[in-house]
Amino acid sequence: QKPVPSDIVISRSCVPKPIDRLAREAQPDGKYVVVTGITPTPLGEGKSTTTIGLVQALGAHMNLNVFACVRQPSQGPTFGIKGGAAGGGYSQVIPMEEFNLHLTGDIHAITAANNLVAAAIDARMFHESTQSDKALYNRLVPLSGGQRKFSPIQINRLRKLGIEKTDPSTLTEEEITRFARLDIDPSSVTWQRVLDTNDRFLRKITIGQSPTEKGYTREAQFDITVASEIMAVLALTSSLEDMRQRMAKMVVATSRSGQPITTEDLGVSGALTVLMKDAIKPNLMQTLEGTPVFVHAGPFANIAHGNSSILADKIALKLVGPEGFVVTEAGFGADIGMEKFFNIKCRYSGLRPHVVVLVATVRALKMHGGGPTVTAGMPLPKEYVEENLELLEKGCSNMRKQIENAQHFGVPVVVAVNGFKTDTEAELDLVCSMAKVAGAYDAVRCSHWAEGGAGAVALGQAVQRASGAPSNFKFLYDLELPIADKIRIIAQKIYGADDIELLPEAQHKVELYTKQGFGNLPICMAKTHLSLSHEADKKGVPTGFVLPIRDIRASVGAGFLFPLVGTMPTIPGLPTRPCFYDIDLDPETEQVNGLF
Ligand code: ADP
Repeated sequence: QKPVPSDIVISRSCVPKPIDRLAREAQPDGKYVVVTGITPTPLGEGKSTTTIGLVQALGAHMNLNVFACVRQPSQGPTFGIKGGAAGGGYSQVIPMEEFNLHLTGDIHAITAANNLVAAAIDARMFHESTQSDKALYNRLVPLSGGQRKFSPIQINRLRKLGIEKTDPSTLTEEEITRFARLDIDPSSVTWQRVLDTNDRFLRKITIGQSPTEKGYTREAQFDITVASEIMAVLALTSSLEDMRQRMAKMVVATSRSGQPITTEDLGVSGALTVLMKDAIKPNLMQTLEGTPVFVHAGPFANIAHGNSSILADKIALKLVGPEGFVVTEAGFGADIGMEKFFNIKCRYSGLRPHVVVLVATVRALKMHGGGPTVTAGMPLPKEYVEENLELLEKGCSNMRKQIENAQHFGVPVVVAVNGFKTDTEAELDLVCSMAKVAGAYDAVRCSHWAEGGAGAVALGQAVQRASGAPSNFKFLYDLELPIADKIRIIAQKIYGADDIELLPEAQHKVELYTKQGFGNLPICMAKTHLSLSHEADKKGVPTGFVLPIRDIRASVGAGFLFPLVGTMPTIPGLPTRPCFYDIDLDPETEQVNGLF
């Protein structure tokens, strides 16, 4: 027996594990489930309802630890056409008044932060156009106590320009000009003002019409707040530190010499982080059956990625523990929301999903089989309320393709057939058997809309079984591929296109972004969700089409390029008869009436 060395010698002789690995090992993550859907009708096929029904089943009926992680809805649709997004029937997030309206004000924080950037851009262009280099510099770096001093953000900008100086008195004339002038090309500004209202008259506006702006007018537009890049940043960030970095990297325009202009160049990135410091915290709510729900972030699903936050998912996965389940929802159908969930959200989070739940409905499948057009607010044609196995079987092609789309990522798929009261036994059975033939791990009927969690226990059990099945997760494309190749892979493998066509503006952007160093970002397709193709009225599984790419934009802070397939409205309008007609407050009880 050798003598035992001193404590300090023993302590130092051990190479410790990296502390973050230890922290991970101490509490392994739970199982991660993403809810997606077949190509929907304009009415929605029940992804939110199924997300909530499933956690009610797993939590309240199967006694497992669960969390649902969902998006916060925009107020625009709440007052517009669609109503709320809390789920439906006996599968809902409560209280829906808070959920569908201001909640804790996260969306307002984004509006404030976004519009600060917009104001900073136009003010900067105005000041630059009316002042000499020297005067501009003297104002940007004012005298204080007889000395000029750079702010930390200004030192960052100098560093970006390759000027390693911190003392303003040592800058050369040339450096002063380079530092002071962003020289933004007004026609290149991609940053828009936002508000959380469906206001169609703000789709195109002219700003700067007061004489105080000396004729510096410019055509601009408003987007809905959830389309702001800051919303996408909130959804994709992993910490305050990371959010601060993303707030600095957002590209708002290009200089006349072709350089990207960022929020850090504008000096506004620190202030943005301050405005967003509370919004970064997920909001805890609950389902009708008392299971926990994180409500956090709600980026647009076309020009952004349409998924709730990474932070909420990560916190929830730790909270539920290794036997528990976190269920999150990806907006739109599997060709859009799920593809972005994997290729963008999971790439940034490093999280690996265990199961895909694909929501299918008899009515949407009948539409894909050639059934008449379904319009929101109109009664459903008879094909949808009477048994029609022929239409249904034909339409299952869309489900088959979306199952295949999930399988590209190597994750088991459970099809949830969301039953409506008009569906027949034979119809529901047909969908289940077609799903299994198409390669789904399992397919089950559910009735959680009518029965709450009890109606989704079979789904919960199928998900639990599937979560133990081998999963071989992989991304669809490598980031290092050229931009056009990444778009082509999505178009061909997921949408079934023959090829893509880059129109001149898109071609120009491919060259610009590649030159500017953004070529390695993931792709966030802005395509209609109502068809696998770019034409909303092409149902089923369209073939023989070439996907036109009209333009490409960059959300560099959020971290993706978004190709525009056709024109994408970025602020909805109000219909003649908006939902707000029904909404009122009861002064006695302070209850909000009229939400749905
Ligand atoms: P998605 O998330 O796919 O857009 P939602 O879950 O928001 O769809 O559901 C859309 C609408 O359909 C909601 O008003 C919801 O209450 C309703 N709904 C969902 N499932 C059913 C069902 N099985 N029966 C009747 N209505 C349903």
